[in-house]
Amino acid sequence: AAAGRKLGVALVGLGGYSTGQLGPALRLTSHCQLTGVVTGSVEKGKKWAADYGFPETSIYDYSTMARLADNPAIDIVYVVTPNGLHAEHAIAAAQAGKHVICEKPMANTVADCDAIIAACQKAGVRLGIGYRLHYDPTHAELRRLARTQEFGPFLKMDGGFGFTMGRSQWRAQKKLAGGGPLMDLGVYVLQEALMASGEVPPVALTARELPKLRPEFFVDVEETIEWTLEFANGARATGWTSYNANRNDFRAEAKDGWYEISSAYGYKGQKAVTSRGPVTVTPPASQQALQMDAFARDVLDGTPSLVPGEMGRRDMVMVEAIYASAAAGGKRVE
Ligand code: NDP
Repeated sequence: AAAGRKLGVALVGLGGYSTGQLGPALRLTSHCQLTGVVTGSVEKGKKWAADYGFPETSIYDYSTMARLADNPAIDIVYVVTPNGLHAEHAIAAAQAGKHVICEKPMANTVADCDAIIAACQKAGVRLGIGYRLHYDPTHAELRRLARTQEFGPFLKMDGGFGFTMGRSQWRAQKKLAGGGPLMDLGVYVLQEALMASGEVPPVALTARELPKLRPEFFVDVEETIEWTLEFANGARATGWTSYNANRNDFRAEAKDGWYEISSAYGYKGQKAVTSRGPVTVTPPASQQALQMDAFARDVLDGTPSLVPGEMGRRDMVMVEAIYASAAAGGKRVE
């Protein structure tokens, strides 16, 4: 990477994830730093400018994103708004000529993913997804085992991610969230299955929505859903996600060994073990700092991303198929 030059990042949407994780992580990065924000709150914008030391002229709102084009201090725009707004904000950033990182899930629909990819291609900018787990060394070990096939191909995978979602959330509204826990948490389980498959997508799947315990809260989104992915080599990956029960694990079995991880999907605290014993790695100070530094280096060096827009789209293809199968009473979708 070009030594000494840090790329400027503007975060779009100063909510929980930006405030708790991405802002702090941008104090740890070597190849990028926070140089602007896009927010609906002038007050928040001013506080961030003071805290992170960028000028108030680098505060934008959602209607003034076109003006990012005139700001050479901002190279990368990182979209951290509710899922249903990702497409609008990512496309505005690309049209302003900025490289784009888009949070997961990439968008509410595959069609919106296509629109983001097309806008970035047209503008000649890079596009990456906020898939932080790809930069965690415990997950890198799963990908390494999938690549080397030291245990043989993983043929039986199972994972789940769920917790009790409180009230108050756009996450329980279909328009802004695109769906329920599958969009928010299930995408991680799907990602993990595809890490184990060597990033080979499934050829078919089936899915089933489970009865709602809080139907008044989860009106137009699922509360719990489970699925089975079928791969061309005969492998199967079952998955589960819920806003009403706790789970946070993944296991992959091959003929000659297995890999298992708990606290699988959190920001830290991953515990991975294989049939050979514990996976001993140094936990990163921040998955998000590694993820953003990797994106910045890919921009500077012109190297391909580990988590490109196409991967975000790939996962949304599975999500749409899971919803389609569940809606059709568990019909097999190819
Ligand atoms: P929050 O609700 O905490 O924040 C969302 C922010 O988006 C708001 O604070 C607001 O910022 C802005 N916003 C703009 N329009 C709206 C609107 N109509 N309704 C609500 N907020 C709006 O969400 P999170 O920060 O938890 O999540 C944001 C995105 O990040 C989601 O896509 C989520 O999936 C993803 N995420 C990813 C994580 C990961 O580990 N990779 C973890 C957590 C979230 P402002 O006031 O500045 O305008």
